[in-house]
Amino acid sequence: MSTKIKTIKAEKVSAELLLETSDGTETLTADKILVSVGRIPNTIGLNLEKIGIETTAQGYIKINTRFETTIKGIYAIGDIVEGPMLAHS
Ligand SMILES: Cc1cc2nc3c(=O)[nH]c(=O)nc-3n(C[C@H](O)[C@H](O)[C@H](O)COP(=O)(O)OP(=O)(O)OC[C@H]3O[C@@H](n4cnc5c(N)ncnc54)[C@H](O)[C@@H]3O)c2cc1C
Repeated sequence: MSTKIKTIKAEKVSAELLLETSDGTETLTADKILVSVGRIPNTIGLNLEKIGIETTAQGYIKINTRFETTIKGIYAIGDIVEGPMLAHS
């Protein structure tokens, strides 16, 4: 948490990462690096605003506490609304 990778120096059988943490910089040597970041809602290009369904700046469909969108009677759930992007939520 609160850590950014500044550089990755790839070697034949390992990789050295320079990390920027809240306590300063540190290095980490790893065998492999798995990059798995960045899921976003897939609403761009659907023209939801044209029919009156508002989205947030990040593209999530705006809902009220009953999961109703900005059009009465139309509801949205799942990864497309703000909250944890998990199947059970
Ligand atoms: C690699 C990975 C691992 C995960 N592991 C877990 C886990 O262990 N536990 C957990 O709880 N959650 C996990 N999740 C999250 C979980 O998969 C999602 O939170 C959940 O599937 C969201 O359900 P959803 O119905 O909102 O969206 P989705 O399951 O993404 O369903 C959306 C559907 O809409 C379709 N679609 C998209 N655009 C359009 C369009 N324009 N027109 C028609 N159809 C469209 C898509 O093809 C898709 O079938 C994981 C997700 C990923 C990516």
